[in-house]
Amino acid sequence: MTVNLNQVESLTLQGQIAVPYTWWVGRVGSRFLIALRDEAKIIGNRCNRCNTVYVPPRGNCGSCFEDIDQFVEVSNEGVVSAYTVVRFKYPLQPVDTPFAYALIHLDGADVSLAHIIKADLDKLKNGVRVRALFKERSERTGHILDIDSFQII
Ligand SMILES: [Zn+2]
Repeated sequence: MTVNLNQVESLTLQGQIAVPYTWWVGRVGSRFLIALRDEAKIIGNRCNRCNTVYVPPRGNCGSCFEDIDQFVEVSNEGVVSAYTVVRFKYPLQPVDTPFAYALIHLDGADVSLAHIIKADLDKLKNGVRVRALFKERSERTGHILDIDSFQII
């Protein structure tokens, strides 16, 4: 049977793939995650040239490109600067719905940290103060979710 493929209806299929991966977070990222795991502290780093404090810390300054080697502890409290509430359940989400992804401007930092808020979503708005809720030491593994979530205070 000869078929002219230019005349065949084009169909699509929907699918999903999960792609497990492992990547090195670098020395600066490792220092950040070790502080979460071992000390339940949030550290950033300060650019020696422009004094910008980054959280999470980074290897060099995004403004002046200086290498950064000065680590600083920042507060575990801050202010929500932006957020979105997630109600759609999806397998790759970090926690069950509903929850919010939020940008949190921690006291002592100059940039916002992206994390999650699980409770009191009806009270969530830009400008509310939040505090990091750390997992118990035995549950912390050196992962951003060693901070279980942020809670409105
Ligand atoms: Zn700088």
